[in-house]
Amino acid sequence: MSSTNSVNVKAHILGFPRIGAQRELKFAVEKFWRGEISEGELSQVGQTLRRRHWAWQAEAGLDFVTVGDFAWYDQILNTAALLGAIPARFGFDAKRLSLPQYFELARGNTEQFAMEMTKYFDTNYHYLVPEISSKTTFDGGVEWFFHEIEDAITQGHAVKAVLPGPLTFLWLSKCKQDGYNKLDLLPSIVAAYTRIINKLAALGVAHLQLDEPILALQLPAEWVAALEPTYRTLCEQGVKIVLATYFDSVTEHAPLLAKLPLAGLHIDAVRAPEQLLSFAAQWPSNKVLSLGVIDGRNIWAADLVKVLGQIKPVHAQLGASLWIAPSCSLLHTPVDLAQEEKLDAELKSWLAFAKQKLAELSVLKRGLNGGDITAELTLNADAQHARRTSKRIHNPAVAARLAALAPSADQRWADFATRQAAQRKRFNLPVLPTTTIGSFPQTKEIRAARAAFKKGDLSLEQYEAAMKAEIALVVKKQDELGIDVPVHGEAERNDMVEYFGEQLAGFAFTQFGWVQSYGSRCVKPPVLFGDVSRPSAMTVAWSSYAQSLTNKPMKGMLTGPVTILQWSFVRDDQPRSVTCDQIALAIRDEVVDLEEAGIGIIQIDEPAFREGLPLKQADWSKYLDWAGRAFRISASGVANDTQIHTHMCYSEFNDILPAIAAMDADVITIETSRSDMDLLEAFAGKNGDAFIYPNEIGPGVYDIHSPRVPQVNEMLRLIAKALEVVPAERLWINPDCGLKTRGWPETEAALANMLEATKTARAAISEGRQLIVDSAKIPTESHGACACH
Ligand code: GLN
Ligand code: ZN
Repeated sequence: MSSTNSVNVKAHILGFPRIGAQRELKFAVEKFWRGEISEGELSQVGQTLRRRHWAWQAEAGLDFVTVGDFAWYDQILNTAALLGAIPARFGFDAKRLSLPQYFELARGNTEQFAMEMTKYFDTNYHYLVPEISSKTTFDGGVEWFFHEIEDAITQGHAVKAVLPGPLTFLWLSKCKQDGYNKLDLLPSIVAAYTRIINKLAALGVAHLQLDEPILALQLPAEWVAALEPTYRTLCEQGVKIVLATYFDSVTEHAPLLAKLPLAGLHIDAVRAPEQLLSFAAQWPSNKVLSLGVIDGRNIWAADLVKVLGQIKPVHAQLGASLWIAPSCSLLHTPVDLAQEEKLDAELKSWLAFAKQKLAELSVLKRGLNGGDITAELTLNADAQHARRTSKRIHNPAVAARLAALAPSADQRWADFATRQAAQRKRFNLPVLPTTTIGSFPQTKEIRAARAAFKKGDLSLEQYEAAMKAEIALVVKKQDELGIDVPVHGEAERNDMVEYFGEQLAGFAFTQFGWVQSYGSRCVKPPVLFGDVSRPSAMTVAWSSYAQSLTNKPMKGMLTGPVTILQWSFVRDDQPRSVTCDQIALAIRDEVVDLEEAGIGIIQIDEPAFREGLPLKQADWSKYLDWAGRAFRISASGVANDTQIHTHMCYSEFNDILPAIAAMDADVITIETSRSDMDLLEAFAGKNGDAFIYPNEIGPGVYDIHSPRVPQVNEMLRLIAKALEVVPAERLWINPDCGLKTRGWPETEAALANMLEATKTARAAISEGRQLIVDSAKIPTESHGACACH
């Protein structure tokens, strides 16, 4: 293997988290919103963070610093602002967009609702959806991008600029005009990118990375066809274009990509390692191939020996045309592991956050370029060996239990009809039974009690007494309202995944492992590092206490295996499906214990079920099979007359409805009010599909995302709409989602109205009348992100 200086491998990153190791950006932006700091002070924080992150890249010996990954709120919004393509409805002058106006686009103002937000591919990062129309011009907007580049240059850095590519930008945009093809805007957007590239050339920028992750999707042919003319034009300008793909394989486009006049291409060798060799074999030797070999989506330290083994054959083929990088932008990882004081040294030796990933790249680069990295490799190999063999990770009892699991362990005892009859006999609920999704307002007092308990200012007994008082209050209020299936309110839970993770074996928690979710919001996912098991019951005491306070059937409340998996950093040393089965068994134990304690109705929340879908539709069925099975494993340990509910937040269900039905929950509650029950039509086979959802359904009759109290008639109208597609015998009445982000006054008022509407609907049903409601439709704008997480 050649390793002379003439074949120097370069190293770079696709992007760095902008939020700051201490979430400096979050706090500064929020202070700015509250008017506590000036725009100048906010700008200063942004510049300090950018400069710090560039300095880290330079110190790690990367060949460029990557500029353009910074955004005050979101990089897609930044690109819209740069192109001048901001929603016309705000009435802002795109050429003079101010920072406060930029934030109004993201957060709304008194006249305009915020731009819609949705998940970036299969990540938990939410971008703002650009709004375009046939009238959109891309005549240029803010100059922030160029100022950042100038700043990096004055800091003495070699700069590689980065932007979302034009095709991905268009793909992610929404156009409300019926029948208008977004691709018709391509020529004007390409002209805008051309102007930007010329400006970069004038600034002396040598490389521009354009991110086109849509190439990893199963793209419609006309989008694939648009690639060549677009990049022929963009590559003719004076800057070398590196096209970046990630999150999945782009092998199918390899011949086309090789033909384009690109300076280079980046591929994801972590998510799709199989594409590596096929690309290396046909890649033109005069073009850069950038291999994403460090996992940009997870926090495990790379196995450097293994990665070197992966790179070396490609290195032999490509020599100096080889670059190495993380698989995607490091935006999806926390910033700096060195800050963690509570994780022990062993666990830390298995992890790498963004800054540590820079160091890994640095070692790989030195090694490939002939440097001596023996010491680093030895250290790394020791840690990898320890991880492979550690008793903290590998629990033979868990493996044995999974191996012994009967193939039928994911099946209830009887079919739905039999269970439904048994459950009707047991619970004797009225028609259109009412319930809620689980949580009640998480008040200041509840959060203060938890904080005091964590600090040691409140004893365990005192804390438990406070939570019990809260549960008693919630049960009493539901009894007074007349809710048929009450809940305990989840006061004791900080977060629906963390609460369970903290009680399960196999999880660890960081102090600063924050990842940007959207805008200034960050999440701190648990670290699922080892075999999962449940040392003891997690919710039984709370649910039993709640049940002791009422004659109504108390609904037990659990988070499902797929959601726990989806919202954690998951170990990468075994298939996700295996880890999911382990969680499923732990939840199954809890379900069985709840049943034994007399809890007859148990909800297993799966709001993240759809999120786990692979990017390519061809891979969906495999995922849906194992995810559905894991859910059923968790739910199937109980008798026929125990009723299993599940809940999902807003999701496009149409295309996966058979898989949702295959979960075989007795009742599913879903978010539907913001789509005006349109979502429900799929469940009733109204979209022309023959498929009809067979079990019971609770389509949310009011939106919990706003403090506004819905009126009785509004809910009645939605109930009537639901009754058009779901027979009364299978319909439940409930809000859209949990109520934890709401205050008490609006919660009580809204639920009272919900019960009032239910009463009217029941009367109509019992008299055999059709429910007719004439009330105005409430205008709402759907927002892809659920406030619950
Ligand atoms: N049971 C949870 C709650 O009510 C469900 C939240 C969710 O779906 N994200 O808060
Ligand atoms: Zn929900």
